[in-house]
Amino acid sequence: MPYEKRADGREMNELRPIQAKVGVVPNADGSALFGAGKTIAIAAVYGPKPLHPAHMKKADTGIIRCEYNMLPFSVTERARPGPSRRSKEISMITENALAGVIDLKRFPGTVIDVQIMIVQADAGTRCAGINAAAMALAHAGIVMKEMISSVAIGKIDDKIATDITKEEEDYHDGEGPTDIPFTITSNSKEITHLQLDGYIQTHRFKESIEAAKIACEKLNEIQIRALKGEEIDENKEKEK
Ligand code: UDP
Repeated sequence: MPYEKRADGREMNELRPIQAKVGVVPNADGSALFGAGKTIAIAAVYGPKPLHPAHMKKADTGIIRCEYNMLPFSVTERARPGPSRRSKEISMITENALAGVIDLKRFPGTVIDVQIMIVQADAGTRCAGINAAAMALAHAGIVMKEMISSVAIGKIDDKIATDITKEEEDYHDGEGPTDIPFTITSNSKEITHLQLDGYIQTHRFKESIEAAKIACEKLNEIQIRALKGEEIDENKEKEK
């Protein structure tokens, strides 16, 4: 049956209720929680610190090392603990999405470790992880050229949908499900990460870029508010 309305009542261009808070892991150098609806990610940053093993050191630059993990009970069908092909891929795209906005040359010979834990998953976990990681890096005081924000855009019955849930991600609209995670910088609006799973026509793809830019602007505002010390939970705001 074609989608009349999104199952959770959202407009096509509406984000899920967002949660954002920094300082959630006191022992880390920087940390943050980022949630979108039922998807919740926690990121912890350690470093910059000396890199071991020493042969991996780069004399003229630092490196960033990201590790994405989904906790076993973050999903309905228990996820197998430990690294998988999927988690390695997401760790790599997260590193690439972040590397461009950090001036790693400031930290020669060091590593910045970013641990990302998905504590609850309802699609968009790589985006939530990137949002949390960007906030955690800023919270650790690591100088960033600009902030980044990430969102997954989908297509439902030929309409572009912002911040899709698992149900929406799996929805077949004749062409199959479409899932396009984007990561966009806050000032120059450059895309530092883009993946496409599914099918989309060129004009719809252009629309999805515009939807992602608008959503990332909203996300950026929330990330900045959280970095200024606000504890954001739009679920609670909606209940009021
Ligand atoms: N998922 C799951 N088990 C897994 C991997 C994924 O249940 O082992 C679910 C989870 O809700 C996840 C969603 O499938 O958020 C979509 O996964 P995908 O690989 O597309 O990445 P994501 O959208 O989370 O970035």
